[in-house]
Amino acid sequence: MHPKKNDPEAFYVGVISSGVFNTASCLSKKPLKENMVFFSSTKEALDYGYRPCLLCRPMLNGEPAPDKIEELLSEIDHNPMTKIKDADLLNMDMDPDKVRRWFQKHHQITFQDYLRYQRINHLFGNILHDLHPKVHRSYHMGEIVHGVSEEEKNNLIEAKTAISICRIDTPIGPMLAGAVDEGICLLEFTDRRMLEKQLETIEKRFNAVLTTGESPHFEKLQVELNEYFDGKRKDFTVPIAYPGSPFQVKVWESLLDIPFGQSRSYKEQSIFLNNPKAIRAVAHANGENRIAILIPCHRIIGSNGELVGYGGGLWRKQFLLELENPSQISLAF
Ligand SMILES: [Zn+2]
Repeated sequence: MHPKKNDPEAFYVGVISSGVFNTASCLSKKPLKENMVFFSSTKEALDYGYRPCLLCRPMLNGEPAPDKIEELLSEIDHNPMTKIKDADLLNMDMDPDKVRRWFQKHHQITFQDYLRYQRINHLFGNILHDLHPKVHRSYHMGEIVHGVSEEEKNNLIEAKTAISICRIDTPIGPMLAGAVDEGICLLEFTDRRMLEKQLETIEKRFNAVLTTGESPHFEKLQVELNEYFDGKRKDFTVPIAYPGSPFQVKVWESLLDIPFGQSRSYKEQSIFLNNPKAIRAVAHANGENRIAILIPCHRIIGSNGELVGYGGGLWRKQFLLELENPSQISLAF
């Protein structure tokens, strides 16, 4: 029996070594306990970098789905790097609204979210630190360099800088982290829509290939994040690297100036930057911050104290502000 939709008992089993998640009934040969993780929803499995099993097809959830949806899922399963726009759906004789509604209803994500998860999870999978063999990948080029010799890999890395990518777990969801020699250059929640664009941007900014690998910065980042979420750390010391336009860099540095436990309005931030009329541009640059939490864009709130705009979702912004200063949040509501 497949788990039923909305069944509170339903769960999914991720197999760490393969990066694939399954319905509970799929695994005839039970993997070792140490090699399994359990998820309560498909979104959770996707957030942690798992790809749906091609046999039990957990995205169909044991429910009869319209034939067209089954075909569409199959197409994506077999071409995970695919991009499918509304116009393509229309060409496939499908109603984009119906597709959107089906994904929202059954998986609480949009169709475009699902395509993005498939692309990113196909490239970077469920990598947590160095659990997995190193495979060098270029996101921007959409290429995966499998099965090349050590020497070839080294040449590839020499040719370009490498950005190591790994997953970091936090109490408010898994994040994708990136590191170059100089420091952490990416820290973003895996369900953030901007993530793909950010991966492309860091590849261009550093003229680098993304690779699943280790970095001494990851260990320090995880330790400091754990301390932060435990309420034992106010400032981060792990080095960060945030190349951008002069304006972006100025804006991000103004965020770094906001002390732990405090917040500023967009207006205050713009005045601080001697650019009181540039509120929109400042807000836009805040949104382009690639190093969440460490560059604390969550400390910017609306002039009336409202929690406005946060790429990681308002609930996360609220969580972070409350964590840093429980009395401050009461002002915001
Ligand atoms: Zn399966």
